[in-house]
Amino acid sequence: MTYQNTPDFAKTQDQKDPLSRFRKEYHIPKKNNKEVIYFCGNSLGLQPKRTESFIQNELQSWKEHGVEGHFDGDRPWAEYHHFSKKSLARLVGGLEEEVVCMNNLTTNLHLLLASFYQPDGKRVKVMIEGGAFPSDHYAVESHMEHLGVSPKEHLIVLQPADGKTFRTEEITEAILKRGDELALILFPGVQYYSGQYFDMKAISETAHQVGAFAGFDLAHAMGNLPMNLHDENIDFAAWCSYKYLNSGPGGVSGIFIHQRHCSDPNFPKLKGWWGHDHNTRFNMDNQFVPNPGVDAWMLSNSNVISTAAHHASLELFDEAGMAALRKKSLSLTGYLEYLLSSDDLISRNIDILTPTDPEARGCQLSVFIAKNGKQIYDGLIAQGVILDWREPNVIRVAPTPMYNTFSEVYEFCQILKALVIIYGA
Ligand SMILES: *Cc1c(COP(=O)(O)O)cnc(C)c1O
Repeated sequence: MTYQNTPDFAKTQDQKDPLSRFRKEYHIPKKNNKEVIYFCGNSLGLQPKRTESFIQNELQSWKEHGVEGHFDGDRPWAEYHHFSKKSLARLVGGLEEEVVCMNNLTTNLHLLLASFYQPDGKRVKVMIEGGAFPSDHYAVESHMEHLGVSPKEHLIVLQPADGKTFRTEEITEAILKRGDELALILFPGVQYYSGQYFDMKAISETAHQVGAFAGFDLAHAMGNLPMNLHDENIDFAAWCSYKYLNSGPGGVSGIFIHQRHCSDPNFPKLKGWWGHDHNTRFNMDNQFVPNPGVDAWMLSNSNVISTAAHHASLELFDEAGMAALRKKSLSLTGYLEYLLSSDDLISRNIDILTPTDPEARGCQLSVFIAKNGKQIYDGLIAQGVILDWREPNVIRVAPTPMYNTFSEVYEFCQILKALVIIYGA
């Protein structure tokens, strides 16, 4: 698409946008009586208007049925984790038996590491990316410590050669170099800081070549871009639902475990009563028989209220379709990049850390501001642009195709330019 740096161009794109109706499905926060420009869906997605009624339904069911709500009502709570499977399978490109929503992200990372970190002889090393999200780093570290493996010696923290983003070969070569000492690589789908989208297929294939598992934290990938975890033979993944998936603060997380692992009843796992075969769960005989598929990894009965909010949001993803969302996202983020680079004044004052290849990123551009970044960020917030700040001098700008517009991207750049005139240059 050829872009233009004019408000009319942005407006025309909005008029032509086949997904434009979805913005009205969300509550857009206001500041000084004006809708904010919300570019923070990578941190906490906005609330769908229908969320309230989804939650209200469960409150009503509880009110009317009490404990019998587990078996009565439209969506009985005993099976509650089933009602999101179709949508989640679509979003990750997996089978229904490979996905389930449960717990929170860090908890799920721990459960998955308990299953997939299986040090054996000299195969003890784990590889993560430099600058990994602290929770992921801590989770890996604690499993190594728990099993008596020194993270100092055996945790490989891979740094990108250019200090910003990775070439895929840097990762695959590092995997091959470690060979049979590598037990596991845990990488993000999309890196939270740089916004880089990794070639999960190439990373997994290479890990499998040396006999290691490859798992992915999809916190910044879910609802951001389409994925194909089953066909790409990804071992496991976990995500949270409150970022691009708009399922509310602290909302329920989800996991994927590939069929070839989750269909193996003897695959190592931490057990809870909800992972027990649902047909005999209530026999309470303490003889663990796993549920079929990934449901064997469940520990507890569903957090129904949080999952109700998840259902509301997933319904909107089903209506919009991830392919159409991605199509718009490529143009929307492409437009942001174009405006940031085509304006001489702005481009002299910033550096975009996120890869320029659209296939190697999702919605988010991470923008390094050369001078007075914090003042510029504060100025953006004061003028009703909501985005986030990461030390030392980076703003993460994430226009989401679900509810953001080309006009907002245009207006954001106008506000940014005015601030650069005051604080930059
Ligand atoms: C957002 C995020 C988390 C947050 O973990 P919670 O357990 O949901 O609090 C963890 N890891 C990554 C990579 C994230 O982006």
